[in-house]
Amino acid sequence: MLKPLLQDDVFLEDVHAADPDNLHLWWLGQSGFLVKWGNSHLLIDPYISDSLTQKYANTDKPHVRMTERVIAPERLDFIEVVTSSHNHSDHLDGETLIPLLAVNPGLTVIIPRANLAFAAERLRVPVQRLTPIRAMQDPITVGPFRIQAVPSAHETLETDEHGDHKYLGYVITVAGRTIYHSGDACPYPGLVESLKKWTIDLALLPINGRDPKRGVAGNFTAGEAVELGHAIHVGLVIPCHYAMFEFNSVSPDEFIRLAQTRQVPYQVLANGERVSLPE
Ligand SMILES: [Zn+2]
Repeated sequence: MLKPLLQDDVFLEDVHAADPDNLHLWWLGQSGFLVKWGNSHLLIDPYISDSLTQKYANTDKPHVRMTERVIAPERLDFIEVVTSSHNHSDHLDGETLIPLLAVNPGLTVIIPRANLAFAAERLRVPVQRLTPIRAMQDPITVGPFRIQAVPSAHETLETDEHGDHKYLGYVITVAGRTIYHSGDACPYPGLVESLKKWTIDLALLPINGRDPKRGVAGNFTAGEAVELGHAIHVGLVIPCHYAMFEFNSVSPDEFIRLAQTRQVPYQVLANGERVSLPE
């Protein structure tokens, strides 16, 4: 199994030592990231348990973990806000979020409004404990983080009976920087136009593609992630959603090759690795 670059105590030391004057981000594996600004911390789509490996053991779709866990959720007792892009367990994991809530009683949990009842049941909290968000609506501000949502197409755009999108990407503005995390996403007409409302400094994009035959649901291919970064003139793309499960992983080599060809700035992280953005 692959080892995270920083793990457990060493990871926590790095988080606490990261200077409060710059914006910092760590890849937690799959689509999970920790963002730090000042002494405030935000989590995006954390999956830091073995729930899926256990759930699918001895089935015809085993979720064999490729990289060891970066950190146990109960050790992240300094988090202000967490976002979930959609209901799939690698983006809304009970075994991550229930212990996280236990150690962060004041935690703001941002959930697509369409998924509120589902998420409340999975996290074993009342619906009122969660903070709903809708695409292209007013921002939610938590500490220094300003959070807005854009629709994502997990293959296709899907809405509930109120027209609320079930799959969201988040645009997070903090410290004068704007981060876009697409969640699980495929290209769709209008995505680039929506994102052009902002100047995106950092895009966190899946690159594992889609292959229904192998049960791999819809994400950007490496080429699509690069083209999106190119279209929105992004400052930096960090690829994600690989190196977690054997069945839906890819090597980042193709992404690197295409990003170089298209001159899209990129950085490939290891699990547990930090990137720091100077102000
Ligand atoms: Zn996913």
